Amino acid sequence: MPSRYVDGMESYDYVIVGAGSAGCVLAYRLSADPATRVLLIEAGPEDRSPLIHMPKGFGRLFGDPRHVWYFPVEPDGGRNRPEVWLRGKVLGGSSSINGMVYMRGQAANYDDWQARGLGGWGWPDMLRCFRAIENHALGASDLRGAGGPLTVTPDREPHPLSDAVVDAAVSLGLPRRDDINTEADEGVGYVIRTINRGRRWSAASAFLRPARRRPNLTVVTDALVERVLFEGRRAVGVSVRRAGRAPEVHRARGEVILAAGALMSPVLLQRSGVGPGALLQAHGVEVVADRPMVGENLIEHRMLAMQYRLRGLAGHNREHAGIRLAANVLGYYLTRRGVLAKASHELGMLIKSGPDVLTPDVQILASPVTYDRSATSFALEAEPGMHFIGHAIQPRSRGRVMMRGAEMNAPPEIHAGYLTDAHDRRIALFVTDFVRRLVRAPALAPYVTAELSPGAEITDTEDILDLHLRSGNAGYHAVGTCAMGAQPDAVVDARLRVRGVEGLRIVDCSVMPTIPSGNTNGPAMALAWRAADLIVDRGHARPAAA
Ligand SMILES: Cc1cc2nc3c(=O)[nH]c(=O)nc-3n(C[C@H](O)[C@H](O)[C@H](O)COP(=O)(O)OP(=O)(O)OC[C@H]3O[C@@H](n4cnc5c(N)ncnc54)[C@H](O)[C@@H]3O)c2cc1C
Repeated sequence: MPSRYVDGMESYDYVIVGAGSAGCVLAYRLSADPATRVLLIEAGPEDRSPLIHMPKGFGRLFGDPRHVWYFPVEPDGGRNRPEVWLRGKVLGGSSSINGMVYMRGQAANYDDWQARGLGGWGWPDMLRCFRAIENHALGASDLRGAGGPLTVTPDREPHPLSDAVVDAAVSLGLPRRDDINTEADEGVGYVIRTINRGRRWSAASAFLRPARRRPNLTVVTDALVERVLFEGRRAVGVSVRRAGRAPEVHRARGEVILAAGALMSPVLLQRSGVGPGALLQAHGVEVVADRPMVGENLIEHRMLAMQYRLRGLAGHNREHAGIRLAANVLGYYLTRRGVLAKASHELGMLIKSGPDVLTPDVQILASPVTYDRSATSFALEAEPGMHFIGHAIQPRSRGRVMMRGAEMNAPPEIHAGYLTDAHDRRIALFVTDFVRRLVRAPALAPYVTAELSPGAEITDTEDILDLHLRSGNAGYHAVGTCAMGAQPDAVVDARLRVRGVEGLRIVDCSVMPTIPSGNTNGPAMALAWRAADLIVDRGHARPAAA
């Protein structure tokens, strides 16, 4: 049995940085072996807030800096309102504040990774991981899992308006699906959600909570990892800052694993001396390994919310204010049902933007609420309304994320790169056109009185693109900033080891070389499940016992 101590300091086989979607899965898997000591370090607090667990609590949660990171994005492209990307800062990470839409991406996405020379990341491997993590309410099949830690459920109480949207989509040629995740082709259906018995089923609920009973797993919260520590080129631990305490060092006998997410993992690497040499030197950081691609290849979805005023059917806006809200809160705690037990969106569509497109390249989500566009927070309108968001699910535009200063409290410099590629601009126009056709379809038209945003008068191509840039939103799905690749300049290899150094891996959305087609929480968790196979399989090299 190797010693628990190195240089008189307690040490761990694995030190995991970040208890988000990927970090929680990793902690669950790696601590399954009682002989393996795992330390999981999270910058945010325990996930005790009731607003986390009540699904629709996220609107309020977004304004709470104790649970949320706010990352300002550079105003490239002349946007006229400041854009801030949110991320979860709490056990469960972004899975504790997200919209709970469960998507897996398409088989073709992962087969493309395999075709890029990334052996072991093709669809058969990833399907095995998805099936292993899932406890799917629609039951097990060749394409779905049951009995896994992650309960996922369909919305069984959709608003009648959503039924009308489904009918409208069917009338435009989209097949109706019970589970759009298991289809390789187009379709419309009610979303599958990471909601279990009316409660958000975050990665912390699904994976971390059961693992915390294990004595070999230590979880530290409210602890900011400032940098990875190297001896030569070998990562040996991390330095951590906790409020009111002297800086701490936590040693890793085996590996340090970054799971800080697609915005923080690259910046943490850069601040630790692994990144573009000139950038590091400009900030006075000693270069451990000159890796120019760290922080490049940022991929994010750009979506425009299209909002409509309603008649005949009220939507959910009024359910979130006044006496109705009070009744809904009470009803929620009595039954775990109702409007507060819902995900961000009730239904989704996967669409091919043209006859030559092989797999769906557009995602549209719909919800019977409208947001007050003049408010800075996520306030709902008082009048009845519904909205759609849509985007290119495989965007080709690329951005970057770079350290702005050597201190962890300096926010990174983010360039989103939205719509810099013609493919993404074409799809932005397709989405606007498709939604307008949808609301004109006979199943939906009787309920819609007006297009509130962008506004029916906006028809010029350049005006629509301009609106996507100026008034659109991020999908909060950023990936790719420490992309794995077979080529020598890729940040991590197919086993997620950081090239140029030893004892350091990255396991989170940043290693995805392309974005899975849809929302990214499910893919992050499946990726971490796969990563655990790779890490354990190697039996990581423990230095001889002291
Ligand atoms: C508002 C919002 C809505 C979303 N909606 C959906 C949705 O409906 N469906 C879906 O599938 N996806 C959704 N997503 C995306 C999805 O949740 C994320 O892609 C996914 O959770 C990312 O997983 P991750 O493990 O890469 O990072 P995260 O889950 O973000 O985890 C990173 C963790 O690392 C911690 N951390 C960072 N830096 C440090 C440090 N220096 N020291 C210590 N800890 C650190 C963070 O606090 C965080 O807990 C949404 C995301 C957001 C933000």
